[in-house]
Amino acid sequence: MIATEFSYSAPDTLHAALALLADGAKPLAGGMSLVPMMKLRLAQPEHLVDLRKVPGLSSISEENGRLHIGALATHYEIESSDVVRSLCPLLATTAGKIGDVQIRNVGTIGGSLAHADPAADYPAAILALDATLVLSSTGGRREVAATDFFVDTFTTAVEPGELLTEIIVAASPPGARTAYKKMQNPASGFALVGIAVIAARAGGVVSTCRIGVTGVSGKAFRATTAETKLIGSAGTKADIAAASAGGRTVMQRAGGGEQRIGESSLLAGRQPARDPPPEDPRLVANRRRTMAQFALDDPPRFGYAPVVDRHPIARPEGVSQQV
Ligand SMILES: Cc1cc2nc3c(=O)[nH]c(=O)nc-3n(C[C@H](O)[C@H](O)[C@H](O)COP(=O)(O)OP(=O)(O)OC[C@H]3O[C@@H](n4cnc5c(N)ncnc54)[C@H](O)[C@@H]3O)c2cc1C
Repeated sequence: MIATEFSYSAPDTLHAALALLADGAKPLAGGMSLVPMMKLRLAQPEHLVDLRKVPGLSSISEENGRLHIGALATHYEIESSDVVRSLCPLLATTAGKIGDVQIRNVGTIGGSLAHADPAADYPAAILALDATLVLSSTGGRREVAATDFFVDTFTTAVEPGELLTEIIVAASPPGARTAYKKMQNPASGFALVGIAVIAARAGGVVSTCRIGVTGVSGKAFRATTAETKLIGSAGTKADIAAASAGGRTVMQRAGGGEQRIGESSLLAGRQPARDPPPEDPRLVANRRRTMAQFALDDPPRFGYAPVVDRHPIARPEGVSQQV
């Protein structure tokens, strides 16, 4: 299909872009999601504001131990950035798992987060990282915590006239281990289940554990039940099994008989939003594992090297590589 008629502006200052947004225009970043929606007439904006000529929106820098990532940074720029890989490897790992190389070359982190597809990858990482999102408008700027940003399917805290301009992420603490693991749709790469974890130990117990889950619900969410159970534990295999005991591994049939396995329900201690069908023992046996274990056990296999390798986490007794 062909999109409905629209006017197009490509301002070269943030001020001009925000003025157009205040007049009701819609931002265009990589166009990877918006253009197909326009072609399907699921979106019919009258005025598009192309952000790609606005200077400074794709910069990536470190300030006082915090990463500042411009909303227009592409997935590839994040995946390949040395500063992201060293200070926040979870984000680089996640970016590298989005779609294919064409999508990663053009799609942007701001576009992905603002689009809030419930199967998108970044939301899980952004939640696990407890990131801050900066929204700008002609009225000024405000900061929104990641946990408040995702409101519902394709719905975020971004108000009309606002632009997501920056994502701020604290550098992962020394010794932290991170992982992003997803079971993906083989055609698009979108997550059927995606889980991001950041975990660290101090004094022999898990001191930090944040888990972001995508793909299994109307919006990405933090698996707070499992987090709470893991923090203060030794992080052993048994602790992780106990932390995930509230959930179930299920197989779901989505459109076209697609198999969707709610691995994350193990961690989240809650059921996926859709009606869970009966358990399938073969899938359960095959998939019964938790992502926290990946992070605590042997994370380099699932991502880049540990954040700071000065304080490597000893593998807990009795825990072996699971995958
Ligand atoms: C074939 C294919 C496979 C894909 N696979 C994956 C995948 O595996 N994992 C995954 O996570 N994603 C996947 N995607 C989506 C991809 O990551 C997109 O790049 C992303 O969802 C949208 O980013 P964009 O920069 O293209 O935004 P656009 O398409 O330009 O915009 C998307 C929406 O966000 C709004 N918007 C854009 N920028 C801003 C901003 N700064 N502030 C406020 N609103 C803004 C737009 O108005 C629009 O509503 C895939 C897409 C395709 C086409």
